[in-house]
Amino acid sequence: MEGKIYKILIVEDIPSDAKLMERNLKSAGLDFISKRVESEECFLQELNEFLPDLILADYKLPSFDGLTALKYSLQYDLNLPVIFVSGSIGEEFAIGTIKAGAKDYVFKDNLQKLGPAVIRALHERDEIFERQRAEDELRKSELRYRTLIERMNEGIVQVDVNNIILFVNDRFCKMMGYDESELLKKVLHKILLDQDKQKFFIEKSKEVIEGKSERFEVEMKKKDDGYLVMEVSAAPIFDNRNDVIGSIGIYSDITERKEAEQALIDSKEKAEEMNRLKTSFLANMSHELRTPMIGILGFSQLLYDEIKDPVLKENARIIYDSGKRLTETLNQILDLSRIESNKLVMNLAPLNIADIINDSAKIFETVVSKKDLKLEINISNNNLSSNLDRRMFTHAVQNLINNAIKYTDSGKITINLGEETIDDRDWVVISVADTGIGIDEKNQEIIFESFRQVSEGLNRKFEGVGLGLTITKKFVELMGGKITLQSKIGSGSTFIIKFPAIISNINNDVHMMQTKEIQNNNKVEIKKSEKPEVLYVEDDLASQTVVSLFLGHICNVTITPTGESAIRMAKEKHYDLILMDVNLEGRMDGLETTKAILELPGYKDIPVIAITAYAMVGDKEKFLAGGCTHYISKPFERSQLVSMVKEILSV
Ligand code: ADP
Repeated sequence: MEGKIYKILIVEDIPSDAKLMERNLKSAGLDFISKRVESEECFLQELNEFLPDLILADYKLPSFDGLTALKYSLQYDLNLPVIFVSGSIGEEFAIGTIKAGAKDYVFKDNLQKLGPAVIRALHERDEIFERQRAEDELRKSELRYRTLIERMNEGIVQVDVNNIILFVNDRFCKMMGYDESELLKKVLHKILLDQDKQKFFIEKSKEVIEGKSERFEVEMKKKDDGYLVMEVSAAPIFDNRNDVIGSIGIYSDITERKEAEQALIDSKEKAEEMNRLKTSFLANMSHELRTPMIGILGFSQLLYDEIKDPVLKENARIIYDSGKRLTETLNQILDLSRIESNKLVMNLAPLNIADIINDSAKIFETVVSKKDLKLEINISNNNLSSNLDRRMFTHAVQNLINNAIKYTDSGKITINLGEETIDDRDWVVISVADTGIGIDEKNQEIIFESFRQVSEGLNRKFEGVGLGLTITKKFVELMGGKITLQSKIGSGSTFIIKFPAIISNINNDVHMMQTKEIQNNNKVEIKKSEKPEVLYVEDDLASQTVVSLFLGHICNVTITPTGESAIRMAKEKHYDLILMDVNLEGRMDGLETTKAILELPGYKDIPVIAITAYAMVGDKEKFLAGGCTHYISKPFERSQLVSMVKEILSV
């Protein structure tokens, strides 16, 4: 009431009486403004324009009367208080005015009662307004929340402590295919869950009404057909005394998400299975392709050495070269699959780079001279070294030189070895530049992708599977290096590889520290006059013949196809070296046979070379751990096998 100025309309024909009333109200402490009217017309006008908060009305006026004013006022606003202020009516009439809807009546001869009566009436009116406003607000906010809940994209369900449904929103009904009336008053888990899910739901509901908020997933049965996977977030509802009276749950349909998750899991499992299959397929393929290669490469090499007729000799060379190419392709595919399945084992060691470059370049001398090209090597520092895997690095360098030669018809190939400091780090820089066909800009990135070549399709101009640079790049990066390319079509290409340099002052000896591919501590003492005795356990006819022919001039090779026969023979005669194929016919494999032979008297320290077409990652380690002292993978070069055997037997 404080601070508010009220508007009071006085229906009175005697101005002095009106003044008296005003004075009375003032002295009662009321803040107000007032207007006086005495005709019906003016009254109605002020009712609409002055908008009074209270009306003081005389009972009888010359042209108007208080009861009519009361009637109009109540029509205008039921809560507009009208107080009769009159001198001429008796008590009975006064009570009649109250019955007709007046708030109060005050006699003119007792005006000191007017102030309190007006203040009381205005107070009541204010309270009514306040209550109406609060009710209005409540109604509005209820409407807001109801609309929100109805329109929500999630289902909302309220249940009591026995899971009896008290409220469901529209969305939930739509999701489950029921009308609201079909769900209300039903037990939620009985109507919406299969028997086997009900126990779980009841347990969860119990946890919720015990006061814990819960989030869980459950499969719910739709009215007509099918199921939905729902994610439920439920919370207890409390009454005024803080007792749990039920719970409210938000139901989100996550069926699609679940299906997508399951599809992802399935496809991951499938991919893993495929990967397992691929690995085992590759291992088998590798074995199956390598085994015949020993025959092709070995015999063509032997024929080439034996044959005198130049045409036939050339034919033998072609067979040998074709076999080599096939082996190379096979190796590339295997390398890529190892990289892709993260199964590549690196043996990083400080390597002298100049040595490897010189050795690699030597291999290409014949091809270079045949193509009328020049090969130039510029080595700025013979002592540069880096932490590298010998096989991978050699492969990368040789691949770049091989490509340079392959894609250049005239001019020269230049190999530079130098160093560079970038951001305080020293790098070894190897570049292979050619004056060949060059690579246009749009192809400079794709050539590093698997199976991509600049000239593709049926009219491609160069042989190769498009894996060389992919593998080179991966090898370089796995060893911590970088590969870049500068090229101009028609002018040539320069491939640059960089590796972090090892700063060392014992550079000259670095290459001495390299890990040796082949252990050579199992040397055998043979009496000068005798040829060493070698037992070769092998079931593949081509391999048997090739190895015998390769080694015939340095040792006596005895061949036996099974593990069982090998053990028997080793018991009967002492052999200086065992060559062991791993995949043998018969009951025993090569590793079992090796173990059994090494347990025989006098065989504890006998060297065993695993000769096998199992050339996948980890195979070599497996054979060495299984008792073999050396390992050579099929197909191998005559020189590789001969020098290994010579070294072991010291012949
Ligand atoms: P491949 O030589 O077996 O096709 P690579 O991955 O080694 O596979 O090379 C991919 C492609 O990059 C080649 O087919 C060729 O188009 C291009 N390329 C590679 N090196 C050179 C080079 N020195 N000069 C021109 N083109 C090259």
